Formats: sequence, structure tokens, C-alpha cells
Amino acid sequence: MSTVCAVSTPLAEGGLAVIRISGPDAIPCAAKIFKPFNGTPVPEMNGYTCAYGRVIDPADGRVVDDAMLTVFRAPHSYTGEDTAEISCHGGVYITKSILRLCLANGCSQADRGEFTKRAFVNGKLSLTQAESVMELISAKGEQSLRSARLTREGRLFQRIDGVKQQLITLLGSLAAWVDYPEEDLPAVENTALLKTLNTASSELERLLRDFDSGMVLRTGIDTVIAGKPNVGKSTLMNTLLGYERSIVTEAAGTTRDVIEETARLGELELRLSDTAGIRDAEDAVEKLGVSRAKKRLRECALVIAVFDTSAELDAEDRELLALLKELGKKLIIVLNKSDLGASADRSAFEGMGAEILELSAKNGEGLPELTAAVGKLFGAKDYDADSTIFANERQKRCAEAALERLRAASEAAALGETLDAVTVMIDAAASELMELTGERITEAVANEVFSKFCVGK
Ligand code: GDP
Repeated sequence: MSTVCAVSTPLAEGGLAVIRISGPDAIPCAAKIFKPFNGTPVPEMNGYTCAYGRVIDPADGRVVDDAMLTVFRAPHSYTGEDTAEISCHGGVYITKSILRLCLANGCSQADRGEFTKRAFVNGKLSLTQAESVMELISAKGEQSLRSARLTREGRLFQRIDGVKQQLITLLGSLAAWVDYPEEDLPAVENTALLKTLNTASSELERLLRDFDSGMVLRTGIDTVIAGKPNVGKSTLMNTLLGYERSIVTEAAGTTRDVIEETARLGELELRLSDTAGIRDAEDAVEKLGVSRAKKRLRECALVIAVFDTSAELDAEDRELLALLKELGKKLIIVLNKSDLGASADRSAFEGMGAEILELSAKNGEGLPELTAAVGKLFGAKDYDADSTIFANERQKRCAEAALERLRAASEAAALGETLDAVTVMIDAAASELMELTGERITEAVANEVFSKFCVGK
């Protein structure tokens, strides 16, 4: 294993910066460039101790900075390896100079997430914990910080591990029974088999549900305000945001691009984009906006479809309704300009499975009802703040895949298929869970996970 170094604090002016060195030569490298004022040789420093001293370039004796050196001895460090951390003054030039000294004295530059990757390789962290380190760093609110901390503490790992253990025990008895029929082992009862599969599925379902509510709380609801030009989308967006963001004009088709902003609506946060009218635009710039708007409609979690209730619905409105029906998104239909009196025919909105509200984006009438409708669709009431949600889409995908296999196994068992076939599916589910926790991951997955980290972490 090589010895690597990186600046672990942001490369910007600040009070302090930390250069971290990890690997078998971490302490010899630090000894070459750091001289404690009290004369203690660096190689004699114990783990968890620090020394005040000077960073000196051994090539020419030039003093770079006065700094603190902290020594960690393997395996009692973040990475599990010998580690030295130099805390110096937080200037960009000083920090880079010290990094260069490390590179000239036996270290190579750490890759993105390399320290955390080493911690994972050395068994200091599970993969889910490693991923939660990244979440901790990027946590923006109390809720997400709490969840990341719990994952960091290994709760997600424990829950997934619990499910996995059940499956492995089950696989054990299935294998014994299939492979040694002459041993007169107790048969795996179909009802017991189905019960275990169902328990495991429910636990995964619960985790997945929490992931969705957790995402809503963490990152807001990805919302698109859709509608043909001039129905009042920008006005509604501005009213929701409480300030002017998109340009409201009288001319049709002026909101050409997709604008994104965040608005708080009661407990929830909407990530809003106000899109160009969904219609067959003639002009090229507008066309770009329209195709982008359609793409956003496909991706988003909630559509607020706006219609002008003071006018009759036209072909464009109906086209949007048809598109929404096809997409099957969570939908709120807003009949805007209620202050002008309604003349639109409401029968067109029936059977859309949507909440239909009259509203005036101009004077704010109907906004409390809109808030309530969003809360009803995304209410986080039953969200357990102590639950451990998945840190990212990778983990979620693994859990979904495992759940899918378990469902298939239940189905096969219920239909009386051979135990061999059922075993294969359960085995595949267990594999997915092991990929989730990192017990069985490929190099490619590990690299993908750690490449999302920043250098120095
Ligand atoms: P967009 O093209 O869908 O974004 O529509 P705008 O928000 O630009 O609004 C088009 C026109 O309708 C503007 O003149 C707005 O002032 C007006 N408007 C929007 N909402 C309302 C409303 O609730 N009541 C009334 N009377 N006018 C509105």
C-alpha cells in the first residue's frame, strides 16, 4: 500500500488547513518535513499525540510554517493506517507548499475519497457508513444530518444485515434439504418459507418507503408547474416564492427556459420549475424550452398543472391533460384566475385522479388549499425521524432489486415451484443486499462510490 497525502480542508483562505498523510510511510514522511519545538523525534511520537513545531523543507532548510502535527498509529486512525495530520495556517499558498513537500518526500497524491476508501478496505467502515460520511459532509439541515449520523453509526447496515441473516439461515436449511435428501432433515415447510420471505420483504418495503419520505424532507419535492402560455404559471411561482424570480409578461410564450427555485409550503419544500408552455412552438429558442419542459415533466415528482379558469379550455390544454394522463405523475390541477369568474368546463379534468383547486395566483386566494393538497400527497406525517434512510440511489437500487427477487421467490414458492428455483431467487436477493452493504462488491462499484467523494476525504 502506498502512502498518500491530500489537503483535507477546503482549498481557500481560512484560519487553519489540514494536510493528511496516510500509509506505511506517513510518519517517516512527516519526520522529514516537521520538527517539533520540544525536540522529540517524530518517529517516537505515540498515537493520538500532537506536537507544536515547524514545517521545514529538508532540501534547503527553508521554514514554511509553524504548525501542529498529530500522529495516529495503525490501526487506531480513520483509515486504519499510520496517519499524520499537519494543521497549518490556512493560506492557499502555505497549504500547497506543504502538500508539495509531502509529495517530494515519499507520498503520492490521494485520489478522491481515498482516505475513506482505505478505511473501508481496512474494515474501519462498512460501505454504507463510508457513503454516509459523504452525506455528513454535505448535510444541509438537521434532519439530514441526523439520518446521516445514524447511518454512520451503522444502523442501516444492521437493518439490512438483519434481513440478510434471515435469508442466509433460510438458504442454509434449503440447501441442506435439497442436497442431502437421505439425511432425513426436517422439510422446509412452504408456510414457514413464505413467512420468512414476507418478513424480509416488509422490512425492505419499510426502508424503501422511508427513503422516499426522507428524500422529500431532505431535498424537497421536485415540482413542475406546467401549462400553456399565459395561464399564470409565472405568477403562481412568484406567489409561492414570495418574490419575483421569473419574468411575468403579457406576451404569450415568454418564459422560455426552465427556472428553478425552492419554495417552502407548510412542512414541505417544493423545488419548483416554471417551464415554457407545453406546446408546439414555432420559434427555435422556444422549441428548446418546450422539449426541456417535457423532459422535466417526465423526471419530476409532482406536477402542478395550471389552467385559466376564466377561459374555455382549448386544444393546447387538452393536449397537456392527455400528456399528464399518460405520464401518471402525482398531479394537482390548478384552475387559475378564479378572481375573474369561472367559465371553463370542469368535466375535462374528471378521471385524472388529481386534486382540483380553484385559485388566484394574483391575489393568493386558494393557496392554503394548495398547501393542504401537497401535504396530502407527500405528507411526511408517518415518517420516522429516527429511521435510517438510504444515503443514495445506489443503495436504494440494491434494496429494490433484492425486494423484486424476494417477491419473485414468494410467488414461485406459492405456485409450488421446485425449491431449487426458489433457492436461486433467494440467493440473488441476498447477493443484492451484500452489494448494498459492501460485503460483496465489485471493484467497479467501489470505485464509483469513492469517486463521488472530494479529494482529501
Ligand atoms: P404564464 O405564461 O403561464 O407564466 O403566465 P403569467 O404568469 O405570465 O401570467 C399571464 C397573465 O395572466 C399576466 O398578465 C398575469 O398578471 C395574469 N394572471 C396570472 N394569474 C392571474 C390571476 O390569478 N388572476 C388574474 N386576474 N390574472 C392573472
